Amino acid sequence: MALRGLLILVVCEIVTVVNSNRDEALRIMNNVPVIDGHNDLPWQLLSKFNNQLNKVNLYTLNDTHTNIPKLQEGKVGGQFWAAFVPCDTQGKDAVKRTLEQIDVIHQMCAHYPDVFLCVHSTEGIAEAFRTKRVASLIGVEGGHSIDSSLGVLRTFYNLGVRYMTLTHSCNVPWVDNWLVDTGSDAPKSNGLSEFGKNVVLEMNRLGMIIDLAHVSAKTMKDTLEVSHAPVIFSHSSAYQQCKHARNVDDDVLRIVKEKKGLVMVNFFNDYVTCSRVANLSDVADHFDYIKRIAGYESVGFGGDYDGVPRVPQGLEDVSKYPDLVSELLRRGWTQTELEAALANNLLRVFKEVEQTSIRMSSEKPKDEPIDYQEIKSDCHTSYGYPTNTAARAHVGKGLLLLMCFICTLFL
Ligand SMILES: [Zn+2]
Repeated sequence: MALRGLLILVVCEIVTVVNSNRDEALRIMNNVPVIDGHNDLPWQLLSKFNNQLNKVNLYTLNDTHTNIPKLQEGKVGGQFWAAFVPCDTQGKDAVKRTLEQIDVIHQMCAHYPDVFLCVHSTEGIAEAFRTKRVASLIGVEGGHSIDSSLGVLRTFYNLGVRYMTLTHSCNVPWVDNWLVDTGSDAPKSNGLSEFGKNVVLEMNRLGMIIDLAHVSAKTMKDTLEVSHAPVIFSHSSAYQQCKHARNVDDDVLRIVKEKKGLVMVNFFNDYVTCSRVANLSDVADHFDYIKRIAGYESVGFGGDYDGVPRVPQGLEDVSKYPDLVSELLRRGWTQTELEAALANNLLRVFKEVEQTSIRMSSEKPKDEPIDYQEIKSDCHTSYGYPTNTAARAHVGKGLLLLMCFICTLFL
């Protein structure tokens, strides 16, 4: 009987501690809500509704990881919504498709002005926090979306895009993706090409955050060397916790620390445990690990919700962030460390990116186009290029006309 009483007491004690951790997590997040690095709700809106927001209610949508009540329960105060289009659009309609995904994010803000505030700056995020709305930012996921054009990159910036992931899961003509490290793709640029370096510098000049999720290890190192501003990994985890090429290895984590960048932990089971199953504690292990190697100022949240088919037990949707914060509290994270991971680290990186842009404001925009041979295809004209291709076509036509003329003389 005495033993039973003791057991009940211990269980009650544990429940009390868990509850008090959760209360503390909510208290912290009421002040400093989470800014998540990557959410694919816009892709769900395309896949399920062909972007017809009139046909969907984001309050009641229930077959996605994300809806408005879940965002509110999860204390989400800022979200980089992914303007993602798959690699098979590359060299075809990637730009048009990306514009449509940027538009659907703008439409979310227009349809639900009390919930989402589309913002483009750290100041905008602060305003969204003040007015208890979700600061809605746009991240373009994959360099294929700019179709190797600095003009398109600048236009995306003007439309509010504030990060670009240099690749998705394919090489683009100027930068290599993570599949190069698995042997599935052959290296093309061996990291960043010269044009790729110009893309990175132009992003610095514009004030667009460089995102290295999805790129090859060599691309990570090249970019960290070239960029004048800190970079982020919007949805990547720790390689030494799960040896998947989408994750970030220690040598890069150390450079990220030195350059004051940020790795926002991905919750996809396959990147968390390298298997199909994972739980909340496994994700917390990645937070602990990155904190140990790169410091608490280089870790953040990048759930990848609605972009992946399997998420951990205990982190089923965007309402669950407070449970993860509660677990980190249990593991001894301090309030300062948690506030850094939740929002302050992203705000610091973004601010530094904004200041780098101001510092570079006297520089002229980069305007050297990519070599035409790099993008030559049936879908690309050569206007503006003084190439042999264009010249040859004219010479060929001239020769044909001359031959026809000579023929008529003899007939
Ligand atoms: Zn991704």
